[in-house]
Amino acid sequence: MHLTESTWRDADAMETSLAVLPVGSTEQHGPHAPLGTDALTAEAIAAEAVERVDREVAVAPTVPVGVAAEHRQFTGTLWVSPDSFRSYVRETAESLAHHGWDRVVVVNGHGGNVAPLREVCARLSREGTAYAVPFTWFDAVDPAEVGFSGAMGHGGPVETSLVSHLRPDLVDETAFEAAAEGGADGWGEWQDGVNLAYDSAEFSDSGVVGDPGEGSADLGERLHDLASDRLASLLDTVATREIPVESREH
Ligand SMILES: [Zn+2]
Repeated sequence: MHLTESTWRDADAMETSLAVLPVGSTEQHGPHAPLGTDALTAEAIAAEAVERVDREVAVAPTVPVGVAAEHRQFTGTLWVSPDSFRSYVRETAESLAHHGWDRVVVVNGHGGNVAPLREVCARLSREGTAYAVPFTWFDAVDPAEVGFSGAMGHGGPVETSLVSHLRPDLVDETAFEAAAEGGADGWGEWQDGVNLAYDSAEFSDSGVVGDPGEGSADLGERLHDLASDRLASLLDTVATREIPVESREH
C-alpha cells in the first residue's frame, strides 16, 4: 500500500511490519535520459516487487534527491551532503518504525547513495530502531542474466533501457549518438588502481558511460522483471528473518 495514496485509517488497518522506502537522485543521465532516472527506476522496481509478494507492505514516498555532487557540472543535477542524506533516510525510517513498520527495505537507484545507505541502515539495525536493509537494483541483477553482455555504465544501455521501458516519452533517441560520442567507456580516470577523477565531467563530455544505443525497451522490460523478482524475494526474507538479539541491545 502506497502511503501517498492512503488515508491514515487505511495505513492504520495494515497488518505488517514491512516497509519499502525508494530512494533516487536527480542528476544528469546524458543528453538523452531524464534527470529523474534513478528515482523512476527505484520507484518502479519497488512498486512491481510489492505486487509480487504475498504480504502487505507499506510503501513510502520516494526520496528524490541523493548524494550526487559528482554530476554537478551538468545543469539540473541536485545533491545533498552524505550527512543530510543519512539523516533524512534515518528519520524517515524512524517514523516508519514508530507506526510499527520496523523492517525497512530501502530501494535504491543511484550509486552515490550506496555507501551512506549501508551506513545508516547498519546503524538503525544495531540500535534496534528498525531492521533496515538497502537494496540497490543494479547490484542485485547482472544484465548478462537477461542477455546483455555490457556493463552498467551511467546513462548507458542498462539504465536507458529501463527508462525506455518505463517511460519511453522521457527518452530522446535522437540524442543517443551524441551521448555515445561524448561518453566514456568506463567510470573514472584510473592509474595504478587509483581513480584520479571525482566528477563525471572529468572523463565524460556527455555525462554518459557506455552507449545507450546498445539497449532497448525490451531489455528494460527484462531488467525490470528480474530486479523486481529479486526485490520480492528479499522482501520475504527481511519480513521473516530472525534478528540477532545482540543487535536489539544498546
Ligand atoms: Zn543513474
